[in-house]
Amino acid sequence: MAPTLRLYNTLTRTKEEFRPLDPTNVRMYVCGPTVYDYAHIGNARPVIVFDVLFRLLRHLYGPEHVTYVRNVTDVDDKINARAAERGVPIREVTEETLRQFHEDIAALGVLPPTVEPRATEHIAEMKALIERLVSNGHAYVAEEHVLFDVPSMPEYGQLSKRPLDEMEAGARVDVAPYKRSPLDFVLWKPSKPGEPGWPSPAGIATPGRPGWHVECSAMSWKHLGEAFDIHAGGIDLVFPHHENEVAQSRCSFGTKAMASYWMHNGFLQVESQKMSKSLGNFVTINELLATDAFGGRSWPGEVLRLAMLRTHYRQPIDWTVRALEEAEATLSSWTAIPEFAEEDEAISGEVLEALSDDLNTPQAIAALHALERTGNSTALAANLRALGFRASLRDTPALAPEVASKVETLISVRRSARAEKNWAESDRIRDELAAMGITLKDNKDGTTTWEVAR
Ligand code: AMP
Ligand code: ZN
Repeated sequence: MAPTLRLYNTLTRTKEEFRPLDPTNVRMYVCGPTVYDYAHIGNARPVIVFDVLFRLLRHLYGPEHVTYVRNVTDVDDKINARAAERGVPIREVTEETLRQFHEDIAALGVLPPTVEPRATEHIAEMKALIERLVSNGHAYVAEEHVLFDVPSMPEYGQLSKRPLDEMEAGARVDVAPYKRSPLDFVLWKPSKPGEPGWPSPAGIATPGRPGWHVECSAMSWKHLGEAFDIHAGGIDLVFPHHENEVAQSRCSFGTKAMASYWMHNGFLQVESQKMSKSLGNFVTINELLATDAFGGRSWPGEVLRLAMLRTHYRQPIDWTVRALEEAEATLSSWTAIPEFAEEDEAISGEVLEALSDDLNTPQAIAALHALERTGNSTALAANLRALGFRASLRDTPALAPEVASKVETLISVRRSARAEKNWAESDRIRDELAAMGITLKDNKDGTTTWEVAR
């Protein structure tokens, strides 16, 4: 019999037995990236951690009985600013960034979610949700904005457990004059000239755009329903983002809960310091995979994956060169196992037990070591594969010289096309190379590197 799955729930601050609303359709929503720039290694943490949870749920309930939604925020001030800065259409920024994100996380052994909804494709649902809130008295219109009326929801603050006066003091710093209460937050706002805009809800005559929080309420509603099982993201999202999502969804649908279990990963820092551009220790997934920006060398995707899972997801993680070296040494000891690439996938035994205890990945890794020590290479290989590690992630097959030279030529033609902003040609060449099994990486410094797709 499978061990009982227990998950730490931010809502109750306890580890609870996991009981899905419907075991034939276990539903999980994870807040995804805002697509305006390369994803950094901190962004990779929720992606990897909740990929492990997705894999575990698929194992426990059957792959066809789990729906995992990870959204894409493709309308946002930072995206607009980046497009203006580069002098390119917004859509170009979002498409390019999303494609890069997909490439980066695929190299980390992450499964695609069941659905990956984009905010700009769910404006109708957002407006419908806003209309409900206005008509049932939880939202109001002021100066072409629609605001959520926080005092109308007595349970507001239940998830983050912040006292009302503390939240108010935080919000009071710069209160917009049209807010009735300092905590009220934006559901819809007017678009300035040049910004993306849609016909507004609630009888507002001028075009507008959604607030960030309402995007996730609308997308989870559309793909998972009014209430679902798990909602997750980084710890920084608890307040205000998730608190506001709860308020919007519960008040729209009159439900007791938006999600039954709220899970949050701890923050990642780099060599014991907060990661920031000003400290010069900001590192993207792509830089780790394809440049020597961190530790003077590039790192295989599965080394990054293992390094991420060596720390329990709720703890802060310190991202260090040393930890990557240790993860790499572990993986090379495991690669010696011949069946690694051929085994069927299965999470089993003590690995399964460890993961069922609030996703205890360090314990699971200890169990993998034990399998190795006892010479149980079949089970080790099966578990490694089930957890997203593939031997094939490691060895890049050598290319025949004539193929390699064709690749270089195509890359150089593509570089010229990009210099002329001929994105169609650039994409066509990328596709031609992809068909040859070559993946391109466009680096920040303008260079393009490539590798054989694995
Ligand atoms: P963002 O694009 O900033 O909304 O972040 C996307 C996801 O990455 C969210 O779930 C964040 O909580 C998470 N995240 C951002 N920075 C870090 C970090 N340094 N460590 C761990 N998670 C992070
Ligand atoms: Zn969200």
